[in-house]
Amino acid sequence: MIDLHIHSNYSDGTLSPSEIIKKAERLSLKAVAITDHDTASGLNEAFNAVKNKKVVFIPGIELSVAHKPGELHILGLGIKKWENAPILEKISLSRKKRNSSIVKIMNENGLNITFKDLENQTKGTIGRPHFAAWLKSRGIAGDINEAFSSYLTWGKPFYIPRETITLTEAIDFIHSCGGKAIIAHPLNIPVNFTVLLEKIERWLAAGIDGIEAVHSGARRNLTKRLISYGEKKGVLITGGSDFHGVNKPGIKMGKTKELGEIGDEYLPEYFLRKSVSISSPKSQDPQLT
Ligand code: AMP
Ligand code: ZN
Ligand code: FE
Ligand code: FE
Repeated sequence: MIDLHIHSNYSDGTLSPSEIIKKAERLSLKAVAITDHDTASGLNEAFNAVKNKKVVFIPGIELSVAHKPGELHILGLGIKKWENAPILEKISLSRKKRNSSIVKIMNENGLNITFKDLENQTKGTIGRPHFAAWLKSRGIAGDINEAFSSYLTWGKPFYIPRETITLTEAIDFIHSCGGKAIIAHPLNIPVNFTVLLEKIERWLAAGIDGIEAVHSGARRNLTKRLISYGEKKGVLITGGSDFHGVNKPGIKMGKTKELGEIGDEYLPEYFLRKSVSISSPKSQDPQLT
C-alpha cells in the first residue's frame, strides 16, 4: 500500500509531518508523499522523521493553478531544492492579499475574525478551509461544506478571487526542482469524461508527466478508464488518498473509498529510484543530494 497525496498541518491537514510518517509506518505503507497546498515547508520535518524508518518518503507539493471550471491542482512529486523559490513567494503573497481581504470583509459584516485565529490553525499555508473551520467553530456554518457553499465559494459574500499561477509556471517550477508534474484528482474537475480527456491531452502537451488516476473521491469505473488512458499514453499513473487528518474524516491514509487500498503499482518506479538517493543516510542535507 502507498499514498502519494497527503496534507499535513503545514496546510489544511491536522497531523504534523512526523505524525504522518509514524502513521504510515504503523499502517506498513511502502511509500508516502506529503503534498501540502502551495508550500514545501513541512518537508524537512518529514525527512528528519523518516530517518531509520522503512517507509519511503517522497517530497511533494500541491499547486493550485488558474482553470475554469472548478480548480486545477498539480502535484509536484519528488521535488528537491525548493528553498526560497520565487514562485512560492509569489503564491504566498497572493494568498496573504486575498486572506486580508476576506478578514476585512468578514469584519465589516460584524464577525470578529483575526489573522491569529487563522495562524493558530496551521504552520504553513492559510487557505479557505481555515476560514471555513472558523465559521464552523463560531456556529455560523453548521459544517465545512455549508461554510463553503454559503460563504466562501464563487458568488458568495466572503468569496474573494486570488491571483493564481499558470499551468506552465507550475510545471516549470516542479521540473526545475527535479520533480514530476502530475494532474491531481482529475475526476474532480466538473466536466464530462470526454471533455476531461481532451483537457488532459492538452495538459500533457504542455509538459504534464502523469495523472493521479487513483484518488479517494474517484468513482471506480472512471478510475479504470483513466488508468487505461494513462497506460495508452505511457504517462505516470499515481495514487493518493488526499488524507487531511480529522479535517476530512472520511478519508483514510493509503485508501480510496471505492477501490480500497492504493496498491504499490501506483507508485511509479521513477520515485522509488529517486527517493533512494534523496533519503540516503550518507547525505547530510536531503535537499542537496
Ligand atoms: P484556497 O486555495 O485557499 O482558495 O482554498 C481551496 C481549497 O478549499 C481546496 O483545495 C479545497 O480543499 C477546499 N474547498 C474548495 N471548495 C470546497 C467545498 N465546497 N467544500 C469543502 N472544501 C472546499
Ligand atoms: Zn487540502
Ligand atoms: Fe487538491
Ligand atoms: Fe490535496
